[in-house]
Amino acid sequence: MPTDTMPQSKPMKLVVTGGAGYVGSVCAARLLEAGHEVTVVDDLSTGHADAVPDGARFVEGDAAETARTLLADGFDGVLHFAAKSLVGESMQDPGKYWHGNVLTSLRLLDAMRAHGTPRLVFSSTAATYGEPETAPIPESAATRPTNTYGATKLAIDHAISTYARAHGIAAVSLRYFNVAGAYGRFGERHTTETHLIPIVLQVATGERDQVQIFGEDYPTEDGTAIRDYIHVTDLADAHLLALEHARAGEHQIYNLGNGTGFSVRQVIEACREVTGHPIPAAVAQRRAGDPAVLVAASDQARQRLGWKPERTDLAGIVADAWRFTQDHRAAAHPA
Ligand code: UDP
Repeated sequence: MPTDTMPQSKPMKLVVTGGAGYVGSVCAARLLEAGHEVTVVDDLSTGHADAVPDGARFVEGDAAETARTLLADGFDGVLHFAAKSLVGESMQDPGKYWHGNVLTSLRLLDAMRAHGTPRLVFSSTAATYGEPETAPIPESAATRPTNTYGATKLAIDHAISTYARAHGIAAVSLRYFNVAGAYGRFGERHTTETHLIPIVLQVATGERDQVQIFGEDYPTEDGTAIRDYIHVTDLADAHLLALEHARAGEHQIYNLGNGTGFSVRQVIEACREVTGHPIPAAVAQRRAGDPAVLVAASDQARQRLGWKPERTDLAGIVADAWRFTQDHRAAAHPA
């Protein structure tokens, strides 16, 4: 795995909640490679024990409950990934999201405060903005989430701001746009898959017959919705930089995306090129709550964190996801 472009900082002792999940496991792996000491806390409700990177200590359990005892040992910071993150489910079962995301995060903040844990990096989301008035979206855009998932993440961001100010916590929220790609043996494998790239790749592996294009009547060039796909290692590296740039009593908020949008049809086409599979596609109804265009303005992260995404090419992002998908299938179904 490449380590040459990794941000360097002094070694820290860190808790990574949700470190057995997609983004959390990649981030934990990059933190370890940068020389940090990592304890992963994950209840394995959606994560996978075999996704915890070698060299990390693993504690299975609820993020807040576990942190309450763990943080007494003295940690330099928490990276909080553990969350419920399915938009559709968040509308059908909001309680699961208010409890699982907001209450858990509040209890985690209380544990940090009780034990004097100085730093927090939080996984926030573009879903906090809702239907945007501008593209690309800056951090100053209005936050009007259109789904419960986004509302819970925004509520946590508000809580973090007040805790940071009142209790001197150095906090950074990173608002992810569309995370994609893989890093070595760490990639996206959700039991309930809703994301475009893994779904399209499931057609290439034969797990699905076709992909549905949710809406072809958007006001975009080819009529399909546009998203900003960011490589998961670029995203992970922003977390390492966030740890370094966090300042006591401040809550910094940054959007993370490449700043380039790709339509659903462009993504499917890139997957066809990478896999060599024809990938049949059928046009279906729009998915409720899907905005036409979501593209990040990440100038703040570039300027203040010194962050620069390195793997911005869509075909390269898809190729990494495809390699992961094939490796994972080979491991799951040995010949
Ligand atoms: N999408 C699609 N077919 C699918 C899954 C997703 O057309 O089977 C579209 C979806 O409507 C959105 C884009 O692909 O416009 C990205 O969706 P995804 O769920 O990956 O991420 P989101 O932008 O919702 O976070």
